[in-house]
Amino acid sequence: MQTLNEISVQFLKGVGPARKKLLLNLGVDTIEDLLYLFPRRYEDRRNVTSLAKVKVGEWQTVSGKIISQSGHRAWYTKKHLTEVWLDDGTGRIACVWFNQPYIGNYLQDGKRVVCYGKVDIYKSNLQMVSPEYEIIDDDEEGSLSIKRIVPIYPLTRGVTQRYLRKIIYAALDKYSSQLRDELNVNVRNKYRLYNIKRTLLNLHFPKEFKDQEEALRRVSFEEFYFFQISALLRRLSITQKEGFSHKINDSDVMRFISSFPFDLTKAQKKVIREIREDMQKDSPMLRLLQGDVGSGKTVTALFGCYNAFLNKKQSAIMAPTEILARQHYENALKLSENGPLKGLRIGLWLGAMKKKEKEEALGDISQGKVDLIIGTHALISEDIKFKDLSFAVIDEQHKFGVRQRAILSVKGNNPDVLIMTATPIPRSLCLTLYGDLDVSVLDEMPPGRGKTITSIFDENSIEEVYESARKYVKMGKQVYFIYPIIDESSNLDLKAAEESYKNFKGKVFKEFRIGLVHGGMNRDLTEKVMESFKEGNIDILVSTSILEVGIDIPNATVMVIEHAERFGLAQLHQLRGRIGRGRDDSLCLLVSDATNEDAQLRLKAILSTNNGFEIAQKDLEIRGPGQFFGRHQHGLNELKVVNPATQLELLEIARNEAILLIQGDPNLEIEENKNIKKIVKRRYPSYLKMVSAG
Ligand code: ADP
Ligand code: MG
Repeated sequence: MQTLNEISVQFLKGVGPARKKLLLNLGVDTIEDLLYLFPRRYEDRRNVTSLAKVKVGEWQTVSGKIISQSGHRAWYTKKHLTEVWLDDGTGRIACVWFNQPYIGNYLQDGKRVVCYGKVDIYKSNLQMVSPEYEIIDDDEEGSLSIKRIVPIYPLTRGVTQRYLRKIIYAALDKYSSQLRDELNVNVRNKYRLYNIKRTLLNLHFPKEFKDQEEALRRVSFEEFYFFQISALLRRLSITQKEGFSHKINDSDVMRFISSFPFDLTKAQKKVIREIREDMQKDSPMLRLLQGDVGSGKTVTALFGCYNAFLNKKQSAIMAPTEILARQHYENALKLSENGPLKGLRIGLWLGAMKKKEKEEALGDISQGKVDLIIGTHALISEDIKFKDLSFAVIDEQHKFGVRQRAILSVKGNNPDVLIMTATPIPRSLCLTLYGDLDVSVLDEMPPGRGKTITSIFDENSIEEVYESARKYVKMGKQVYFIYPIIDESSNLDLKAAEESYKNFKGKVFKEFRIGLVHGGMNRDLTEKVMESFKEGNIDILVSTSILEVGIDIPNATVMVIEHAERFGLAQLHQLRGRIGRGRDDSLCLLVSDATNEDAQLRLKAILSTNNGFEIAQKDLEIRGPGQFFGRHQHGLNELKVVNPATQLELLEIARNEAILLIQGDPNLEIEENKNIKKIVKRRYPSYLKMVSAG
């Protein structure tokens, strides 16, 4: 028998070739697609508010008969205005639309309509501006659109709400007995999840909102469950390979730890233990290390490099920019002189190196003349052959996709991989985006750091801000002035930063040395200026937000962020992380005249805490998951129903269930699991392909 994903929607009454084509725009091709086209919201039309009782200022559903309709061009705005008056027997309301003259063709005198929108008062009459509207007939179809909780679907041109309701209703009627439940009955019972038929009925045409919520819980579980299975399969495709088992004894670990000039934090020791255990296994390590800026991730990463070295293997560290690569390199070089990395031969590989240097470096790497290679991400994309790579670190992974993770495992002989990120990720998102990774967290800052105090100023008090900056420079400190990228295309950002730079140089800070970096400058120049700032030859650095990534200059203790409202929360946190890196207290001065609510929430959050995880959680709440990482982040794209921002508990149980399944049957070979494999392959093809493509 055909399954519902093999039956075209054309088999439904009322779906001809033309409509079928339109439905494709909504991603609907088969009956299954149609049944899984979920409403984007619902309207409670069980009790349509009578016009005598509507509340001004609130969003409501009203219904009535059209008593007059007119369209004209308003002389003062030149906009076309459609005005429709409704009467429901208790009162009247004007519904208006701008620049949609065609609406007049539908909404003709005598028709009954339902409108949903915000009720206002205009010239002492009730009014709705641009409400959603729907014509109601008295025939039976109409019953899907009135006197009930009504589903509101995403639309495409030529497809109306009423039409969708009708065909979805028909599809449920005709085909729901053929629905196959893809969730195993034991799992369903365990978590009291609706069966699929009940689920779909209640998602489309719920009688009560609590039924709809249960139905949503069921599909959310289902979605995340299969999604997690795909992540775990992807993980397995790497970890099932034969890797190298690193052996290291306790005294060597002790020696490494005790040769730093400071005591490692408890958190660092814990993470080192985790890395050690992972590296000892035959199967390749795949681990994400989260730690706020300054929490000391590098130390733990270097442990892995040292471990590889003791096992006569190579290791690599990849940073997102050349500056950072060089910073890691210099740092590591120092530690190799009688420090914890004693004995390691360290190499640097940068895209900007001269041809000869590069060739030499390539030779060293492939012949094993260097033990630890530090470079940019180009280290993996270019044609570099390692002699014997067994441990690789990827720094600042949010610039680094799933694909690269996979490539890396193909390079070398399935090396152990540690991915580091300074962007703290709330647990729910971590489960979503990094379901294929083990996770370590550095949740403790090294002692002896100065505090960072953040305060906010309005634009009028800018002189005060300048005065603070001046005071600190006179004390020998360095200062950042950060400007937002206002509009990349029009280069307005350059102007803001550039203008201030000129203003500082010529006037405000005449007596100091001023530097400028922005995204429009070429790399070499940027790096030169940064280098000069680092060496203390610049007092005040004016910059756009390109500064974000992990630059470490302890003497810079003041940061001024202008137009702070224009920055995202995570970005503000990252920026602020550039200061407070030395023993002295630091100062972060936000300048903003923000009035909009989101901006104020962000500024309030950044003022209230320095804890990256708290900030990330707030950020997620304010922006929602899609915005948190950028919409195109793998994982968030695939999830259509479940909302990682609000459904953590559900994510956890779905993940646990997926883990249980995979532990019991890693390759999904058991008869009753074969279908699961098919489902996952069908739903997440690109997600899985990434592995085999390498
Ligand atoms: P991040 O986590 O931002 O990458 P780093 O590893 O770059 O942090 O460390 C930041 C600074 O803190 C470095 O100068 C490092 O030497 C220092 N550091 C790391 N661990 C400790 C510690 N346990 N005690 C004191 N200083 C530390
Ligand atoms: Mg770092």
